[in-house]
Amino acid sequence: ALRIENLKKSYGAMPVLKGIDLSVEQGDVVAVIGRSGSGKSTMLRCINGLEPFESGSIEVAGHKVSDAKPALRELRKEVGMVFQSYNLFPHLSVADNITLAPRVVRKLPASAMAGLVEDVLSRVGLSDKAHAYPDQLSGGQQQRVAIARSLAMKPKVMLFDEVTSALDPELTGEVLKTIAELAKAGMTMVLVTHEMGFARRVATHTVFMNEGRVWEQGPSEQIFTNPQTPELKSFIAPDL
Ligand code: ATP
Ligand code: MG
Repeated sequence: ALRIENLKKSYGAMPVLKGIDLSVEQGDVVAVIGRSGSGKSTMLRCINGLEPFESGSIEVAGHKVSDAKPALRELRKEVGMVFQSYNLFPHLSVADNITLAPRVVRKLPASAMAGLVEDVLSRVGLSDKAHAYPDQLSGGQQQRVAIARSLAMKPKVMLFDEVTSALDPELTGEVLKTIAELAKAGMTMVLVTHEMGFARRVATHTVFMNEGRVWEQGPSEQIFTNPQTPELKSFIAPDL
């Protein structure tokens, strides 16, 4: 579903990604963990075509990531991305937030919209909120609408970048539960997270990034119970 080979990216003279290799198969749920500044967000942004990169290649669902505008448009139909800040359009209802891109980009007919809204809202547990406006929802609910909006494009791969870190702790659980349910339904996902327990429980694979490299990766159980490198050991158990 996703293949990254020898991806390198710098900001000015500072190398940020120093040769990333990563393969994600359909149905995999990959957690990306690592210290602040290790390049996690930069990697996600490269996958989604939001950042140019100097060398290497990225292929998502058969599409090569490149700077060319038409290629980018095709790519974005396949890849959904949800960020820490959910950026819903405040002047549009939940339903209109969800249907905007499908109408414009996928050119779905108006008759398909009600069913689409119902489908994606039920997957995030918000079937009764189609007519609400963003400011009438809690932060956790807004983030779930943002996830629903992404799902409405029927992406082959979903990218999540610390989607719970702006939320109050009591709202984090409902968003994580939504993501866990998507995982169970077979959605291919790459999620950057600081929630170690969640990564361990939900992710099939975990990737530890350090200093712009994939330092260690493997089945989540193995990464958390049997880390091989000193860097990963101290990251997951800083007191030891
Ligand atoms: P965090 O856990 O804090 O979100 P991260 O692993 O996501 O960290 P990145 O955001 O990918 O880290 O940043 C990697 C490095 O690139 C950092 O040193 C950061 O300062 C730098 N960087 C990120 N974005 C830019 C930018 N637009 N311009 C210049 N440097 C940047
Ligand atoms: Mg980040």
